[in-house]
Amino acid sequence: MSDFSTTPEVPCPQCGKRLYWTSDNPWRPFCSKRCRTLDLGAWADESHRIAGEPALDEANIEELMERLERGDNDRR
Ligand SMILES: [Zn+2]
Repeated sequence: MSDFSTTPEVPCPQCGKRLYWTSDNPWRPFCSKRCRTLDLGAWADESHRIAGEPALDEANIEELMERLERGDNDRR
């Protein structure tokens, strides 16, 4: 009992469940393997999205507008 009272208790960053920060817990600061995997997966997804999308969108819009302008001028 006295062991538990001195063990730091922290909330799992993924699900918020309280867990004891002990060397027995290989998934700390997460409560389980599932939460650790979910958190890493979400982080990887987001960094991929931030790196990929905005640059592509801006390039596409500018290219589209240029094509439209040129197409109009050529037709006349
Ligand atoms: Zn958790």
